Amino acid sequence: MTKIEKKYQKQINDLIVYLKNSKFLTDDHVESALRNIPRHEFVLESELEYAYDNEPLSLMKKQTISQPGVVTRMTEWLDVKNGQNILEIGTGSGWQSAILSYLVGSGTVYSIERHPELVKFAQENLKKLNIGNVQVILGDGTLGYSQRSPYDRIIVTAACNEIPLPLFDQLSENGLIIAPVGDSSQSLVLLQKTSKGMIEIKKQSKYVFVPLVGKFSTK
Ligand code: SAM
Repeated sequence: MTKIEKKYQKQINDLIVYLKNSKFLTDDHVESALRNIPRHEFVLESELEYAYDNEPLSLMKKQTISQPGVVTRMTEWLDVKNGQNILEIGTGSGWQSAILSYLVGSGTVYSIERHPELVKFAQENLKKLNIGNVQVILGDGTLGYSQRSPYDRIIVTAACNEIPLPLFDQLSENGLIIAPVGDSSQSLVLLQKTSKGMIEIKKQSKYVFVPLVGKFSTK
């Protein structure tokens, strides 16, 4: 387990208090992930002083590490269990992947990123924390990653007008998929695959993500 400097522990605590008060954080396991996967290890040096603000921060290639409150909400909705097989589309810094890896324990997170610079950045960040159960793959995540399917959970961390169809095929029965869907502003949508088709479990509006760019995205 990583030893976290005292000054960051205080900032992490303050962020957790804020996220709990604003109901972005309600689950003890997700809180534990937040305490053990320090966000400051996943931001650019120029953004270090803002690492524990509840704000998205700039990464290279005009991309962003998502806002902590959005990461905790998506993670809670996804209801990850130990041992599961997870697919993430849009690795960015690797912070969300690392949080999922903590929750999935003996399971594996496969994370697809389209920018080689971010693949390298995320791999380096994950290595610093000795995280061994995340595989970051360069590619177009709108195609999914059929090599390791089916997945118990799929998370899309970039905005799409429609969830790419290959992702539904690669989800296991009873599996959950979460994605920000919409044009200039998006709704977070959580769907479950059932024997009768996809059903909507939760939906919440007014989120803004960077666009999903790929073969099966209309962005
Ligand atoms: N989860 C990330 C984190 O914790 O830092 C933040 C993800 S950022 C909001 C969205 C990411 O999706 C960007 O890094 C972007 O390059 C990536 N992306 C966009 N379209 C993609 C695609 N078709 N395949 C893979 N990655 C994509």
